[in-house]
Amino acid sequence: MKDDSLDRNTIKSCLTVLERLQEHKHYLPEESHALRQLQNHLRRLDACLDIDGSDSLEKDLDDSAKSILESFRERPRQSPLLTSSSTLERSIMLGNSSSLPFPNLNSAGTNNAELSQLMSQFESLENFDVFKLAKLTEDRPLEAVTLTLLHRYNLCDKLSLPVNKVASYLQVVEDSYKDNNPYHNATHAADVVQALAWLLSGDSFTRQLTDLELLCIIIAAAVHDVGHPGVRNDFLVNLGTDAAVRYNDNSVNENGHAAMAFELLYNPKHNFVAHLRADERHFFRRTVCDIILGTDMSQHDNHLKNFKGKVQEYGTNIGQWPLEARDVLLQYLMHAADISNPLRPSALSSSWSKRIMEEFMLQGDRERAMGMPVSPLCDRETTDWKKSQLVFLECVVRPVFESLVPLAPNGASHALSSIEFSRSSWQSGSLSRPSSELSLPNDSPAQPSVIMDKVPSSSIFALEDVH
Ligand SMILES: [Zn+2]
Repeated sequence: MKDDSLDRNTIKSCLTVLERLQEHKHYLPEESHALRQLQNHLRRLDACLDIDGSDSLEKDLDDSAKSILESFRERPRQSPLLTSSSTLERSIMLGNSSSLPFPNLNSAGTNNAELSQLMSQFESLENFDVFKLAKLTEDRPLEAVTLTLLHRYNLCDKLSLPVNKVASYLQVVEDSYKDNNPYHNATHAADVVQALAWLLSGDSFTRQLTDLELLCIIIAAAVHDVGHPGVRNDFLVNLGTDAAVRYNDNSVNENGHAAMAFELLYNPKHNFVAHLRADERHFFRRTVCDIILGTDMSQHDNHLKNFKGKVQEYGTNIGQWPLEARDVLLQYLMHAADISNPLRPSALSSSWSKRIMEEFMLQGDRERAMGMPVSPLCDRETTDWKKSQLVFLECVVRPVFESLVPLAPNGASHALSSIEFSRSSWQSGSLSRPSSELSLPNDSPAQPSVIMDKVPSSSIFALEDVH
């Protein structure tokens, strides 16, 4: 596939020209089709050439952008350990896993028609509003969206899963997400499950996944942040919490989510996999744990490199992929769904970015109050909000979806168009920094911002321009 006459810079220039052509001229359908084909071919070629990760995309970043990127990736940093705070940590990590009274989703009364209408957009990236779902289900979006996705692939029937136990498990999982986290709450988990639904719906690779693999990734998406304490791994490590000690400072949050997910599952009232064969149960546990642990942002570079390597080694017919490569794929799809907020329409995307930044800022407030150094991206006063979002978009989100072009051309092309639109919106200022008046976490997303005309595509690496 490698073509010495077409290096990455040339390909990127050609793609830029193609994008400009598409913006400024109306084409006949066959001309548009030909342009899109050419664009997809170049993106595929670009993805294949970029096997060594995204370093080449990052070389032009300035120092502050590089530091922002490191912070998003949550690369381990050396920080002085503070004294252990086991009580705080226990309440953070273990949460309250008791079941709460739960309204039956099918008896939402007057909301039923609206709920049906919303769920008819279940596989749409643009038309599905998870905040609306939360309202219509009386704060049960996770159960609703996960059951719908399981039903979409008929998994309860095919794997003879007891539906009542699946539902009760999802209820107890949903209860174990912390409502007061601005971002890492059950609505985020529901959003990720729905993004996964979109990702699985657009391309033929999904047909090559087994029923058990589909079950694993759907359940993993639902539980992947369960019990999240609302602070990042570094915070727990720097504080010397029991969880950090228990998990040897490695993926402390993600290990906690996986442990909690299986503690809840192994309650006989909820154990919907108990009847599976031993090898299937073993596969389920191993795969779900791997997918959850893979959501640690510090794994981003590994995911990118591993996934591209598998595509290069085995091609795009995943039916031919060995088991370990399929595991890489499942983790990668989950990672893609988990960082898909910026692909949403601006009102939703803006709401999510406000939430994650507010969660970061609350961590920064706690760090300051405890006399700890304030973590990068967590300082209300100094964090360059706009630049952070652009770095995340261009250096984290974009490479993931570019690399999916060979395997999932429809979904990836759609995502790349959304990324381009989102970048333009951030650069034009129509998506702005969070206001201190933001009501969290139960507010609806803001009304759609007026998006300025799409600016001509240019390299994000002129980040200085956005100040
Ligand atoms: Zn997440």
